[in-house]
Amino acid sequence: LQGEFSVIQRDTGFISGVVCVLTDITEQEKVEQERRNFVSNVSHELRTPLTSVKSYTESLQDGAWKDPDIAPQFLQVISTETERMIRMITDLLNLSRMDQGKLQLEREYVSMNDLFSHILDRFDMVLQSEAYRNKNYKIQRDLTQRTLWVDIDQDKVTQVIDNIMNNALKYSPDGGTITCRLMETHNSVVLSITDEGMGIPRKDLQHIFERFYRVDKARARSMGGTGLGLAISREVLMLHGGRIWATSVENKGSTFFISLPYESFEEEEW
Ligand code: ADP
Repeated sequence: LQGEFSVIQRDTGFISGVVCVLTDITEQEKVEQERRNFVSNVSHELRTPLTSVKSYTESLQDGAWKDPDIAPQFLQVISTETERMIRMITDLLNLSRMDQGKLQLEREYVSMNDLFSHILDRFDMVLQSEAYRNKNYKIQRDLTQRTLWVDIDQDKVTQVIDNIMNNALKYSPDGGTITCRLMETHNSVVLSITDEGMGIPRKDLQHIFERFYRVDKARARSMGGTGLGLAISREVLMLHGGRIWATSVENKGSTFFISLPYESFEEEEW
């Protein structure tokens, strides 16, 4: 609460009253503070890759371009960092659209079993590629046999699952198993992805869905992350009337859950 006092004073000098105005500024101030933090975060997040692009470009200009060993490496860094900045801007634009309520979901009834299976097939293919083959990651599936129809924007939910799967791979040790489950409760579909990675400290767990929050900034950046994936995931699920959350044990692994509203059709028919 913010208090403002005014003293009512007559010409004669007598004080005839006091006016006190109390305003609830907490909510307003919080929104304003968040906005300021956000602008400052965006600026920092973009300045870091821009600074490195600038210094690598300068080195090339200073003569490194002539070195056939070094020049391609420098160009690779410039290209990777530029791509990450583009991803970040795309993510920011998506978030901004959701903030303004401009993002319309394109809903349709989708079998969650099929959707999840297709996504996992795709990841199985990725794991066979050269970049991942020697990591020996395994994906284990534990999906309910019952077909669960959900009314969702397929592309958006795919984006969320992709993001959680990519994080699970990013933070998995070589040889790690990623366990993917699909189950139902009486009114929701719950999907979970468990990894055997480094885990997330308890104090950070509640913050990882905030924009740009990362447990280890340098490490997450070096892995190409934008720090916005889970924030976007949370917004997408909220638009669907669903939820996202995580549990974790340090040095053991993490489980990310998403739930989506679900009505069993069979029950309705009976
Ligand atoms: P990033 O682009 O950094 O991956 P995210 O929003 O996807 O951004 O994730 C936010 C942070 O949450 C990550 O930087 C990381 O610290 C933590 N995190 C997310 N998934 C995992 C995971 N499976 N294991 C450990 N930490 C994770």
